[in-house]
Amino acid sequence: MTAQQHDRVVLPAARVGTRTWRWFLLGALPVLVAGVLLGPAAQEAAYAVFAAAAALAVVAGLRAHRPSRPLPWWLLAGGMACGAVSNLAWSITLILDGPPSGLSVVNVVYYGMYLLVAAGLAMLAAGRGSALAGMAEAGIVACTAAVLAWVFLIDPVLETHDGIDGGFALVYPVLDLILLTMAVRLAVAAASLTRTHVLILFATGALVLADVGYVLWMASGGSWSGSGGSAACWMLFYLLVGAAALHPSMATGRGTAPVGGYLRSARLMTTVKALIVLVGPAATGYAFWSGLHRQDLDTVDIALPLGAAAVTGVLLVLRLSHSSTLVNRRATDLQAALDDQAALQQQMTHLALHDALTGLPNRLHLDRLIQAALRTGRGGCLLIVDLDGFQHVNDSFGHPTGDALLTEAALRLRQVIGRAGTLARLGGDEFAVLLHDGDTLTADTHARAVLRTLRQPVEVDGQRLHVTASIGLRGLACAEDSAEVLSDADLALYAAKAAGKDRVFAYDVTLRESQLKRIAVVDRLRTAIGTDAIQVHYQPIVSFSSGRFTAVEALVRWVPPGEATIGPDAFIPAAEDSGLIVPLGEQVLRQACRDAAVWYRHYGTMLTVNVSPRQLSEADFAARVMRALHDADLPAAALILEITEGVLVGAGAQAEQSIAHLSELRRFGVQVAVDDFGTGYSSLAYLRDLPIDILKIDRSFMPDPATGDPAQQVALVRTIVDLAHTLRLTAVAEGVETMEQTAVLQALGCDKGQGFHYGRPAPADRTADVLAEGMTAAATH
Ligand code: C2E
Ligand code: CA
Ligand code: CA
Repeated sequence: MTAQQHDRVVLPAARVGTRTWRWFLLGALPVLVAGVLLGPAAQEAAYAVFAAAAALAVVAGLRAHRPSRPLPWWLLAGGMACGAVSNLAWSITLILDGPPSGLSVVNVVYYGMYLLVAAGLAMLAAGRGSALAGMAEAGIVACTAAVLAWVFLIDPVLETHDGIDGGFALVYPVLDLILLTMAVRLAVAAASLTRTHVLILFATGALVLADVGYVLWMASGGSWSGSGGSAACWMLFYLLVGAAALHPSMATGRGTAPVGGYLRSARLMTTVKALIVLVGPAATGYAFWSGLHRQDLDTVDIALPLGAAAVTGVLLVLRLSHSSTLVNRRATDLQAALDDQAALQQQMTHLALHDALTGLPNRLHLDRLIQAALRTGRGGCLLIVDLDGFQHVNDSFGHPTGDALLTEAALRLRQVIGRAGTLARLGGDEFAVLLHDGDTLTADTHARAVLRTLRQPVEVDGQRLHVTASIGLRGLACAEDSAEVLSDADLALYAAKAAGKDRVFAYDVTLRESQLKRIAVVDRLRTAIGTDAIQVHYQPIVSFSSGRFTAVEALVRWVPPGEATIGPDAFIPAAEDSGLIVPLGEQVLRQACRDAAVWYRHYGTMLTVNVSPRQLSEADFAARVMRALHDADLPAAALILEITEGVLVGAGAQAEQSIAHLSELRRFGVQVAVDDFGTGYSSLAYLRDLPIDILKIDRSFMPDPATGDPAQQVALVRTIVDLAHTLRLTAVAEGVETMEQTAVLQALGCDKGQGFHYGRPAPADRTADVLAEGMTAAATH
């Protein structure tokens, strides 16, 4: 109502509520009943009042409801105004001169009312549904009405009433016909008729009824002013138009679902049309019969109904063909939508079952393929292929390069497998090959071919990348389901990786057993950590120049209560896998710092501790080390951390984090040693830029006459020692077991040595004795 505030000021009648239209109708009804009983002049005046009230109601409705298309309503208001003016004029004429005769300006104004209302109706219907269908339907009704009007109304009147008055009275049926046509068009076109529409249609009906009654009244020699029934209907006409404009639904001008509207009304319309088609011939027959009966049959009596029937037929054909076009278009649209839907469905299925990068089947798809293969029982094999060091490529060169490498790997795999199997991507750098048949032996041949092709360097953006792969193999024979096949192949892959990568491993039961063992180890280790089942042994490191023990390496031992001591090789890999290495490593570090603090104070012996990559990727690693040193009261300069080469290689976030930790610790005086040097990455250039102080030459380099040419072995150690010295690093030889090896190392200028020759790892108390002895030995030396 707030939107209409402004209109209330302009027009008091614009206080239009949702029920105003009802009060308008009910309030006027007594007046209408009274109007029927009035004399002709007063009756004309009553029409004028009703028409004026209707005009005002339309304007009020327009102001209050603000329909989106106001023009039809302005036309209706104009029509009502015409009615008011002409009726007022007749009323005055009746009072002054008696009944008017002949065509006058007033008549023309009154006819104008019909035309304006018809135009209003046409515009109300415009934009609803198909114009062609609407007009055809309206035309059919108009033709039929015209035939009926002619046969039953106009022709009889013309026969009996040759007077000019009667002639003018006959203009009304023609105008009514136009009105009726527009009303039918509105009724048909609207998908759902609003209350406003219904009121307007009733108004039109009332007017047509009044006029028909008037013509019949005149034909039977009635007075100029018409019957009481006609009078009531005329007043009702004005009333209903006004009420229609006041009804709130007048605001919602436009209906929806034009096509649906036609299709729904089609069934009803078929019945109506069938009846209508019969009306033409029936009326013609009647005209013929009555003409013959009265013996005044003329051509018009027959030609007019026949012509109208013909036009009706043509319009019907038009309407039907339009309907079938609509139906066809609907059907085509529907088919197109169904096709789209099917294509989309297919696309989604494809997406769900394929990998986006390589277009290969994904894990889900592979799972189904394995299930299908198991059902046929034809045998076959599953290979899981995992690229070694892919993470390193991704970290160092970026993801686009990583993606290119994966795409190339997929291509090579496809070439090498050909029709022998289906290739899939399981995610990340993991592929799978489902070999359709053959046993594990043929599968092994395929796997080796895969390893060979992947070993070839890959060129990406001018970079030459070297990757290898590890493969896990599982035959489909005697497998329960796809999950079992996949997990067994995974286990074999794990074993291939653990055995040193770039190789294929076939699944067998012992792998499952060792996995279970590993899981059991992790479970037990978890409870051991934090207790004194975790012990630290120490192995001395000797300086060749002084002959003294300059450092001890802390080596963890696990001594479950009442059981034999377990060496680190049996549980460190599992601890690294499970992340338990983090608390375990910290426990060892803190214990070692405490033990070594005394030795450092007494003999200046340093402590060297092994650190796993996993510990270095912890955000607070450096802080933890500093706290351990502080708590044990051991100076930072007394500590050496041993890391493996891989930790510092590559440009990944993990390597950066490790380097940051080590650089920080070095600023406090902690030294860094590269453990097992020579077994990992063979690029030596990186050593120059890294935060390291010591190279520990892996024990596999120790010259051993039993395993090869001593001269060559010595040359290798010399190279490493020289390299260390070039980079100003201390060279420490590991695994020194003999006197001869000591002599060679001393001759090559190696700085320090560690091995069974100098001492085995021993508990803290024994190590304390060894160190004390060493001091006295060196002193007496
Ligand atoms: P590593 O760092 O290379 O440690 C030296 C290993 O070589 C020790 O084995 C030691 O007993 C053995 N060894 C010493 N001298 C000789 C020798 O003359 N001949 C031979 N054949 N072997 C010798 P251990 O104690 O079994 O340790 C094995 C590996 O476990 C270590 O290798 C190290 O990588 C890892 N490890 C040990 N303690 C820890 C720890 O606290 N934390 C971490 N992260 N790793 C540890
Ligand atoms: Ca070590
Ligand atoms: Ca080592």
